[in-house]
Amino acid sequence: MTSRCVPFALANDIFEIDPAFYSAIGVTAVLVDLDNTLDPYYINEPTDRTLVWKKKMKEAGLRIAILSNNSGTRVHRYAKALGVECRCFMKKPFPGPLKKFLEEEKLAPGQAVLIGDQIMTDVKAGNGAGVRVILTEPLDPKEPPWTKFNRIFDRPKRKKIKERHLAPNWKEIKP
Ligand SMILES: [Mg+2]
Repeated sequence: MTSRCVPFALANDIFEIDPAFYSAIGVTAVLVDLDNTLDPYYINEPTDRTLVWKKKMKEAGLRIAILSNNSGTRVHRYAKALGVECRCFMKKPFPGPLKKFLEEEKLAPGQAVLIGDQIMTDVKAGNGAGVRVILTEPLDPKEPPWTKFNRIFDRPKRKKIKERHLAPNWKEIKP
């Protein structure tokens, strides 16, 4: 397994991560995947859990941006309802659009963290752009066919990362 598939850290889900953790590791911008990271793919409006999370993150002074591979309409609608910025068609695992986003926003890769539930898209894109990635477990087993396909590769890699302790749980990182 190449190091491009190994995240910076693991988390059960995005909601358990203490906002203070991001500042402690020098992060000002938290870039998040949408589907199965913030909410399942069949959800069009942010759920209460996600709204509470966003409020806490904003109170901690963190910038949040949704970076999705998905098409515009749903992502824009969801992001608007959540009150955060978003970018669509991110082409993860390709790091190009992420690098472009960082450049445009004048963010150094070290100032950002990417949170996502897929090794084959989120982890690879983040590592390719030099951004630390926190890999979460997918929120819901119900997934679209293209994600199901990615899971064929995701599952054994994830297992190996955990068994060999190739990435720590975020709680184990003491900045
Ligand atoms: Mg996802």
